[in-house]
Amino acid sequence: MHSKTIAELFADLRARRVSSSELTRHFLERISRFDSGLNSFISVTEDAAIAAAAAADRRLATGDAGPLTGIPLAHKDIFCTRGVKTSCGSRMLDNFISPYDATVVERMEQAGVVMLGKTNMDEFAMGSSNETSWYGPVRNPWDRTRVPGGSSGGSAAAVAARLAPAATGTDTGGSIRQPAALCGLTGLKPTYGRVSRYGMIAFASSLDQAGPIATSAEDAALLLTAMAGFDPRDSTSLERPVPDYRAQLDDTSVAGLTIGLPREYFGDGLDSGVARAVEEAVDVYRRLGANVVEVSLPNSALAVPTYYVVAPAECSSNLSRFDGVRFGYRCEEPLNLIDLYERSRGEGFGAEVKRRIMIGTYVLSAGYYDAYYLKAQRLRRLISDDFRRAFTEVDVILGPTAPTPAFGLGAKQDDPLTMYLCDIYTIAVNLAGLPALSLPCGFAGGLPVGLQLIGDYFADGRLLGLAHAYQRETDWHRRIPAEYK
Ligand code: GLN
Repeated sequence: MHSKTIAELFADLRARRVSSSELTRHFLERISRFDSGLNSFISVTEDAAIAAAAAADRRLATGDAGPLTGIPLAHKDIFCTRGVKTSCGSRMLDNFISPYDATVVERMEQAGVVMLGKTNMDEFAMGSSNETSWYGPVRNPWDRTRVPGGSSGGSAAAVAARLAPAATGTDTGGSIRQPAALCGLTGLKPTYGRVSRYGMIAFASSLDQAGPIATSAEDAALLLTAMAGFDPRDSTSLERPVPDYRAQLDDTSVAGLTIGLPREYFGDGLDSGVARAVEEAVDVYRRLGANVVEVSLPNSALAVPTYYVVAPAECSSNLSRFDGVRFGYRCEEPLNLIDLYERSRGEGFGAEVKRRIMIGTYVLSAGYYDAYYLKAQRLRRLISDDFRRAFTEVDVILGPTAPTPAFGLGAKQDDPLTMYLCDIYTIAVNLAGLPALSLPCGFAGGLPVGLQLIGDYFADGRLLGLAHAYQRETDWHRRIPAEYK
């Protein structure tokens, strides 16, 4: 059962070959059997899942079912879920029971999805290895001595081990695509504004975007269709109709399409095994009739430094709400108000979050605002302009998602700069607000490699179509780590 895609599981549900209750129990049983070795879940909502599955079965029986009704799914613990702990991977919110649902959670529930639980993540989504979580690191199902990527590492590990057929994630600088790449999955970061951010705990609001982590592009298309759309509660959400992304999958024809390979994404620092797998994927697209050309994104090297001014600046502001007063962690016996603030924040936040808050506060301070924050905003424009120019020459941009396959737990933990470079190919996309997708394209040293497709604004459907075309020719997305088959 667990080796099937959502599309296949739904066919089984509709034909009564299996019930949502059976399916849900099967995945809950896998979580209890395997998750002690992975640590991919922070909370498992077993009773609620069983009740939701029974309700889905009733909907299936009356014929009132959509393509996700009865399908189990895990939510990243950054999404507020009513009545359920929503920790964001932090001690700060370890005691926080959300009084409301995020729009993404609400829409999934309306579609009849069965929530299995909440997945582990880097604290406040800051990280590329899932090692900054207050709940401990997540392990990669392909090799448990390695990281699953971050910050949606719990979602990726859970889906890779088939403890859930799919999961939600969020991507501020690569946190859907990079863990999808390191775990052999298909992950989409939609166009900024496509999916509501309401109830998604904010890290850097101008960059954050929610999206699906699934095994196939078809499943990602099903999930995006249910998740996306205008939400009056998010002022940056776009008033634009949502197509049926799955119905459109076959509309994208590879033949005649121009694919651009950015020169800057194939240079120093790219692992040779990753480069080989990506080049083989390019050959598949060539065989399908694509025209492949080189393209340049000259400001690529500025993306990481720009991001590490913009993202910390926004996070220092967003995280100021955690003050020990209104909700979340509060220190024991504060002496006065200042002591309450200082110790609640000092004890509630981990080291990486504090580092970002300090950088952000510094770059926004009166004396340094022009030199850092304003400068970064200008660079952000240059980076967006690179893409705008490239999309006058090509239809889609293709490259690696991450420079290396999954690295060892602890390998980069003491060196933030090396860790930040994990996102060298993903970050520019968030600065520009573009959609991008990672899909599995082979292995290097026994570990999955991710291929990244970057599209122009609202080309989410085209990216899914291109990934689907590739997945009809290959079976990398069908591979499951031996222990979890
Ligand atoms: N790794 C990047 C960071 O630590 C991106 C994280 C994300 O996309 N949430 O900021």
